[in-house]
Amino acid sequence: MPVKSRKSVLFLRCPTCGKGSLFKNTNPYALNSVLDMNEHCEYCNEDFEVEPGFYQGGMYMSYIITSAMCLCLLPIYTALNFSREKFLDNAMYYISACAIMLVVTAPYIVRLSRAVWLKIHVKYFKNKES
Ligand SMILES: [Zn+2]
Repeated sequence: MPVKSRKSVLFLRCPTCGKGSLFKNTNPYALNSVLDMNEHCEYCNEDFEVEPGFYQGGMYMSYIITSAMCLCLLPIYTALNFSREKFLDNAMYYISACAIMLVVTAPYIVRLSRAVWLKIHVKYFKNKES
């Protein structure tokens, strides 16, 4: 089923057609194959191996995504800890919550960062024929 351009990133689909899967195993929690990518799209033949070392840039995306996730937890933590003393005393809870969230979501974030990096560099053609 084709996915629209912006959603193709979230569903880890081909950035060009939104149909083909970027990864060989669609389950991100199959940890032995978390980084195994298809070489090209099965529908539009878009090349997923752009050049050697291309996905190193995905690390920057991963940093941005995980930072944003931790910042999203901050308003919740702030709402639960009004006073300054309480805010600082309970900082370990916030750090622990961030750590747990990042460990649980790490396989998906790794894949998502690669998908975002590829999406930035490949344009989406809605009606591209293979
Ligand atoms: Zn495709």
